[in-house]
Amino acid sequence: TWKEFVSNYLSKAIVEKLEVVNKKWVRIKLVPGTQIDGSNTIWFNIGSVEAFERNLENAQLEMNMEPSNFVNVVYKTETEIGSLVLSSLNFILPLALLFWLIRRSSSMLQGGRPGTRGGAGGIFGFGQTTAKIIKEDIGVKFRDVAGCEEAKIEIMEFVNFLKNPQQYIDLGAKIPKGAILTGPPGTGKTMLAKATAGEANVPFITVSGSEFLEMFVGVGPSRVRDMFSMARKNAPCILFIDEIDAVGRKRGGRSFGGQSEQENTLNQLLVEMDGFNTQSGVVVLAATNRVDILDNALLRPGRFDRQIFVASPDIKGRASIFKVHLKPLKTEVNKAELAKKMAALTPGFSGADIANVCNEAALIAARDLNKTIEHKHFEQAIERVVAGMEKKTQVLQPEEKKTVAYHEAGHAVTGWFLEHADPLLKVSIIPRGKGLGYAQYLPKEQYLYSTEQLQDRMCMMLGGRVSEHIFFNRITTGAQDDLAKVTQSAYAQVVHYGMNERVGQLSFEMPRPGEMVFDKPYSETTAMMIDEEVRKIVKVAFEKTMQLLTKHKEDVEKVAQRLLEMEKLDKDDMVMLLGKRPFAEKSTYEEFVEGTGSFEEDTTLPKGLESWNKERDEEAADKENGIEKEKLGGKVSFTE
Ligand code: ADP
Repeated sequence: TWKEFVSNYLSKAIVEKLEVVNKKWVRIKLVPGTQIDGSNTIWFNIGSVEAFERNLENAQLEMNMEPSNFVNVVYKTETEIGSLVLSSLNFILPLALLFWLIRRSSSMLQGGRPGTRGGAGGIFGFGQTTAKIIKEDIGVKFRDVAGCEEAKIEIMEFVNFLKNPQQYIDLGAKIPKGAILTGPPGTGKTMLAKATAGEANVPFITVSGSEFLEMFVGVGPSRVRDMFSMARKNAPCILFIDEIDAVGRKRGGRSFGGQSEQENTLNQLLVEMDGFNTQSGVVVLAATNRVDILDNALLRPGRFDRQIFVASPDIKGRASIFKVHLKPLKTEVNKAELAKKMAALTPGFSGADIANVCNEAALIAARDLNKTIEHKHFEQAIERVVAGMEKKTQVLQPEEKKTVAYHEAGHAVTGWFLEHADPLLKVSIIPRGKGLGYAQYLPKEQYLYSTEQLQDRMCMMLGGRVSEHIFFNRITTGAQDDLAKVTQSAYAQVVHYGMNERVGQLSFEMPRPGEMVFDKPYSETTAMMIDEEVRKIVKVAFEKTMQLLTKHKEDVEKVAQRLLEMEKLDKDDMVMLLGKRPFAEKSTYEEFVEGTGSFEEDTTLPKGLESWNKERDEEAADKENGIEKEKLGGKVSFTE
């Protein structure tokens, strides 16, 4: 303190000079030879230089010192180490933080730990491919994929080519470079590709289209390059790009500010596919369920020149798929019979739906602690998959319940007396999923519909509303879903199928659900005409239904009352109430497949493919006989 300085040093005349450092500190230099506390430099703090000078002068005057003997004061500027460190941190910290963030995000995107990548493949490894390479057996075989024999044969051909190329080369045939698997979701496209890997005995490189898209420019194309170089290194091999629509979208769309990253990625993909020939032993497979949005350049011969359509399975296909998925299940029912029965009950189901039904059946059986899965569990599973879970506890006012019963009875009776309506399987007024009542029909395996058939279907859908009209003379919101379907069907007839006389034999592209339409492909006059005709079609169907149900009012009454009593009616109950349906109808597997060539799905392979997995069969036989053979992978060699 100032006081200590005055009393301990200044007054004792041992101060040689004072150094004012950075206008903040005063260093006291003592007269040589004097030491206090083992040091000859002592510091003290000052508030301001002016105050210090004034105080020093006063203090010395008070001590009666001569101004000429006053202590010398020097002024100095020195670098303080503390502030040096602080100011350098101002620069270093943000830099270090930035560096750390980049490292971390790059390694997170690659799924690795920080510091495990870097260097090659672009800044911090961003441009490295995220494709996974599978060299081991992945457990899916062609026999696990059923109901799409044609697609399977086409895919098998690629595998066969990798294994037995001579067969094709001898005839001068060039094998397509790649194939795109298209078709509705859940039909087994990914599974087919996986099975290809499972069977091929060659490395399988798999990647999803969305993995090419990152927020950084240039990453996509770089990953494509890296992936193809990986494929070339591992040839012969199969490269599989799932969900290719993520990168393969049509170019030249609405994009601001030049080419988009996705377009650059697609361009790189095209370049790479042009860059190798089929001799290099890389087969590229891709899958999508939106082939319509793919860029044409991707589909032209020389790139993905083979399009393999994997359709929803027909009844024979469904039976085969059921067989595959029934295999691991514990049931005492004859599985082959069960598969056929179930196939007849599940028109429109995809492979994934069928897998779901089988699993649900097992879950339902387990819920009630059954030892094995029974027939009824499968039926419940189908209902569960089609309409959702039964909600027995949903509170429904008696009045509402009555409305639902008459509504459902209206549907059922209309269908019963219309020739082209689908045969009824079950009708129930137990709420399920988001519906309050539900009727299950058995649509025919049918690909073409006549105008009469479409009209009968519309009538059946309107049956619910008409019945409410007749019995309560009021309508409810419960028919919204039916009306939506009726409207859709009527518009399709006029705009899409050219089934309306006034609009004529024209078919306009209908927008997909959720798609924005900017320009109609027809004039305002046509638009008005279409609307009028649609209204007319629906009106005619409504009046026909009204007539029919007025005639069968008693039947509706009977069915509705019975429904209120039992909550659920099946076909036999309906026959008891209404008598046999006056039209011939098909309901069993045998009836459905009659006259369609074969009784089951034809799974014979063409001659050229018969030996495609011979080695594998031999290997399996050897294994069974206890002979361990060297793995056959990588036996095929290619020359470029
Ligand atoms: P996609 O790729 O066509 O959308 P997936 O191949 O992913 O469909 O199929 C999903 C699941 O559905 C499969 O794991 C399988 O259990 C079942 N599945 C689909 N199609 C078939 C089929 N043809 N045969 C057997 N199972 C199938």
